[in-house]
Amino acid sequence: MTLLGMSIPTVTRVALPLAVDKTLSYRVPPSLAEACAPGCRVLVPLGKGRKVGVVVGLAREPRQDLREILNVLDPRPLLDEELLEFTRWVAEYYFAPWGQVLQAALPLALRLKVKRHLLLLPPGREVLEHPFSNPPARVRRVLDRLASSGNLSEAQMKRRLPEAGRRLLEDLAERGWIAIVEETRIPSHRAVGEPWVSARAGGASHATFGPRQNRALELLRGAADAIRLKELLKASGVTRNSIRTMAQKGAVALEWRASGTAWGKTLAPSIESALEPTAAQDEALAAVSAALARGGFQPFLLEGVTGSGKTEVYLRAAEAVRARGQATLYLVPEIGLTPLLAGRLEARFGSGMTILHSGLPDRERWEALRGIREGKPWLVLGTRSAVFAPLPRLGLIVVDEEQDPSYYQAESPRYHARDAALVRAQRLGIVAVLGSATPSLEAVAACRRGKFRRLVLPSRVRDRPLPDVALVDMREEFRATGSQSLLSRELAGAIQRLKDAGDQGLLLLNRRGYATFLLCRSCGTTLKCSSCSIALTYHRTTNRLLCHYCNRSRRPPSACPDCKSQHLHLGGAGTQRVEETVRSLDPSLRIGRMDRDAVKGKGHSRLLEQFVHRELDLLVGTQMLAKGHDFPGVTLVGVLSADALLSLPDFRAGERTYQLLTQVAGRAGRGDRPGRVIIQAFATDHPALVAAATHRPEVFYERELRLRRIMAYPPWVALLQVRVESREAGRAERHASRLAGRLRALARRRFEVLGPSPSPLSRLKGVYRWQILLKGPSRRALADGVREVLKAPEDSQGLYRIVVEPDPRSLL
Ligand SMILES: [Zn+2]
Ligand SMILES: [Zn+2]
Repeated sequence: MTLLGMSIPTVTRVALPLAVDKTLSYRVPPSLAEACAPGCRVLVPLGKGRKVGVVVGLAREPRQDLREILNVLDPRPLLDEELLEFTRWVAEYYFAPWGQVLQAALPLALRLKVKRHLLLLPPGREVLEHPFSNPPARVRRVLDRLASSGNLSEAQMKRRLPEAGRRLLEDLAERGWIAIVEETRIPSHRAVGEPWVSARAGGASHATFGPRQNRALELLRGAADAIRLKELLKASGVTRNSIRTMAQKGAVALEWRASGTAWGKTLAPSIESALEPTAAQDEALAAVSAALARGGFQPFLLEGVTGSGKTEVYLRAAEAVRARGQATLYLVPEIGLTPLLAGRLEARFGSGMTILHSGLPDRERWEALRGIREGKPWLVLGTRSAVFAPLPRLGLIVVDEEQDPSYYQAESPRYHARDAALVRAQRLGIVAVLGSATPSLEAVAACRRGKFRRLVLPSRVRDRPLPDVALVDMREEFRATGSQSLLSRELAGAIQRLKDAGDQGLLLLNRRGYATFLLCRSCGTTLKCSSCSIALTYHRTTNRLLCHYCNRSRRPPSACPDCKSQHLHLGGAGTQRVEETVRSLDPSLRIGRMDRDAVKGKGHSRLLEQFVHRELDLLVGTQMLAKGHDFPGVTLVGVLSADALLSLPDFRAGERTYQLLTQVAGRAGRGDRPGRVIIQAFATDHPALVAAATHRPEVFYERELRLRRIMAYPPWVALLQVRVESREAGRAERHASRLAGRLRALARRRFEVLGPSPSPLSRLKGVYRWQILLKGPSRRALADGVREVLKAPEDSQGLYRIVVEPDPRSLL
């Protein structure tokens, strides 16, 4: 473009996945001008290196001093305007760098892999071969390696010769003996897939095959569609080779299917096929359908006890959306919930769905994103970050278990997926359905203010009764028995009867490990983590004391580090100790433990599958147990130390306790047999416990809403937390005081400034934490105040860090 004879180059704004809160300008060379569009990824120079970023804007500016973009990586934008603007909103609202939010939306797309290749140059070869040159031994070894194997990557060299560090290699490159060639690799649109197997009619007979092969055949014949080869191998125990043999004999067919567009057939039983909806389900569905037909933004809160059939309402609404040629985004709080739900959806609807969560292998996740962008699926099931799924024709967003804390991402970029989902729905003008058995106070208040429409499913499907809940007062138990046993007589008895009745049980204790503290009986010292202000937990399986906040661990000392006394006592019970206690109660019980230590990676779904298939009688675990699983065989749920959660210094402690207890109690009696719940606690009269035990939510909600109003806490006011973190205690405090002073000068009557005070978790990973809390009627006023105070960027010289958290989920 020319103006008055001068050419004005195109300039592009690029958001990069960095901790810096600004976008950078680059010049677009004429050769790339056509391809460079907002929402496309570009490769740009940054400092001495290169980075992948997203084009967020274009302009024509007479600037020549900028660096040029190196390449445009997408033929068509990966993000459309709606998603680009939505990610910008999230970045601004949550005080997060836009580039980091984009990285959360496109997890792999902004990752640049640099592979460094090493080449031996002629001068290097000369050094190696010249009789009089005498290089140091390790230099000779490096050159020797390159001479014998030709081209090696830096990583390969490091594996073969650990001494060949970056310094040494760069030194050799400077001398001109070797060359280091960088190759960058960016995730691209390559199709991935895997083999699937199905049975073929009229193939070879059973007699030809061994028992495992026959088992595989039975599984295949029982399935409605093909099964992933990987799953079949696991389920039947056959080898890849025997499947190949079976294919050669015509008994099975192998086909290659692209992944990402469908999920594997989980072999879990489909628990609830499409039932006739209840009257309440019908009513809820009619309200949602009417809103869909009307068009426009309409949020609903679907409130129903566990087992009341909320999922059925979501699925029928999603079908209605599909019929309109649009897609549904279905958010669930945990990856662990996706396999069973995915299996159920697959059994009911067949194909056209995509699963999206951070646990997927990189390439599958990339492929899933690509398919979503192309508008292939009509339903995307995902966890937190799926709120950014690039669906082109979104018609409905479902957020199941909206109260779940997992929807909040506590690390940068911080965001709350439920709240962000509501904003996305509002911007798009579509329907949002939040569902819960134990709604958040925010959702309840939004219904009362008329912002959300409330839909209620009052009873369980098939009129199964709610479980009978008993509260056991452990103070009285101690008085009566004179011993501090982990299990009350009532709970112990119920566990012992479990096996005879052929039933299953769940035992919840929300603390992992064996003992929750190590106490010196002589001087009263509790062993704390050396870098956090928190007691260490003893893990018997590894015989180590572990910090649950920073993961640092140490051997248990034989004597008190303070007074050298040897009277050390392991106090407090964790899941490992409960497991041990139950084992001693009935050694024949098959027990599984589900907590973060026991289930890493795929262990979680394996444990769930074992339990569903009745290979276990009892699961002991942390709150992981409480989340939405459908276990028809469970008739007993026990909760130990139910009031431990109440003692957290957090205004949501009561809410969390009520929700957790109700959720876990709801796991009992979902099949044909009635359920029984036994809750052990010291403060048995707390409304959160009473409400959960009596199935009277109003006991809790009414009081809690009143309490929050008196104390001026959400949902009645907005909160914003500013935390100052530093490795020096004094610096964190001083800077927090300075900030608080400036905020107070600015606040006038618009908001209240509390603090600064040390965070309840005053030291974490060696970092001291001071916090300031802003409270006020308007979210915007709080955010504007903080922006104003932080506007003039001061150079912290890396000595402190300021973290701004709007709507903080926890005040720890
Ligand atoms: Zn001591
Ligand atoms: Zn620690």
